[in-house]
Amino acid sequence: MIKKDYYEILGVSRDASDEEIKRAYRKLALQYHPDRNPGDKEAEEKFKEISEAYEVLSDPEKRRIYDMYGHEGLEGKGYSTGFSDIDEIFSTFDDIFEDLFGFRTSTRRRRRARPRRGRDLRYDIEITLEEAYKGTEKEISFERLEPCPECNGIGGKNRITCPSCGGMGQITRSHGFFHISTTCTRCNGEGYIFAEPCPECRGSGVVRKKRKINIKIPPGVDTGSQLRIRGEGEPGEYGAAPGDLFIVIHVKEHGFLKREGEHLYCEIPVSFIHAILGNKISIPFIGDEEVEVEIPPGTQPESIIKVPGKGMPKLGSEKRGDLFVKIHVLLPKKLTSKQRELLEEFAKTEGIQLKSTQKKKKKLWERMIH
Ligand SMILES: [Zn+2]
Ligand SMILES: [Zn+2]
Repeated sequence: MIKKDYYEILGVSRDASDEEIKRAYRKLALQYHPDRNPGDKEAEEKFKEISEAYEVLSDPEKRRIYDMYGHEGLEGKGYSTGFSDIDEIFSTFDDIFEDLFGFRTSTRRRRRARPRRGRDLRYDIEITLEEAYKGTEKEISFERLEPCPECNGIGGKNRITCPSCGGMGQITRSHGFFHISTTCTRCNGEGYIFAEPCPECRGSGVVRKKRKINIKIPPGVDTGSQLRIRGEGEPGEYGAAPGDLFIVIHVKEHGFLKREGEHLYCEIPVSFIHAILGNKISIPFIGDEEVEVEIPPGTQPESIIKVPGKGMPKLGSEKRGDLFVKIHVLLPKKLTSKQRELLEEFAKTEGIQLKSTQKKKKKLWERMIH
């Protein structure tokens, strides 16, 4: 099935701001809301469609993935797209509906305690080029919500029906023709409270905890690479799977080697003698490593020598990029008279005329300073 473009569905441009997206959704949600279109299947489908589009575009991470890779990208990341029924939309967007309309528009049955996957977490880490080249292991520590150990994530003992809402999870007030329902603040819409709330988590069932884990960073990662560590996000609700932890890699600049994708680049100074006659030299590389570079006879200034297979490893493959070495030819700034003679000799073999007047002046000058 070909899915429609989310921006098109909401009728906004691709660079629409969060505010514009919210406004567009609010307008369409009011139009297609099931309470306003009872029994209208088409409106219901439309309501699901706009809600799906809003669910993605209102989440910066999902929007980024959608912008880059489209619907397939979201599926590839394991984000479920689409809603199976209207209730799911209300349970997902509880807060959004309250936020959008100022109150909960649905007078349907209160939110059921349904499993909801835990939130994903993001951790940014900076590594050196050496570490990106060889791969590394790091210990990271971060804070996340975990089920409260005191009450096993339940929140307390002795569950009783919420006295404020009588178990409905909502409080309904009448305003003329309208019945406006708002979420019961005492039970947060759950319909029950604990007679003995857990003192550790104050009834929430979760506590913020520092967590340390070891992560393996494979060779070849680059700035922007993301590692997904399954199950290290926040816990799911009502027994649902926990979220994932995304490690976002930043690779520091190297003093000598520049990186572009899988290739490495550097520049080295070479004596003009070596450039003319050829040479083999060792240059510093990653860590303590050195790389042999063969400078062929007759190498021209600023030419680039390719050292195959000495670039970065390709992520998840045995292949490697190449190293490109740019040659800066160094010319002597001063010559001894012996060197000068030899060069003049060399010039003759090349048939190069040296202006005799200049030569005489130079000789005179040398005598004066020596
Ligand atoms: Zn209540
Ligand atoms: Zn607790």
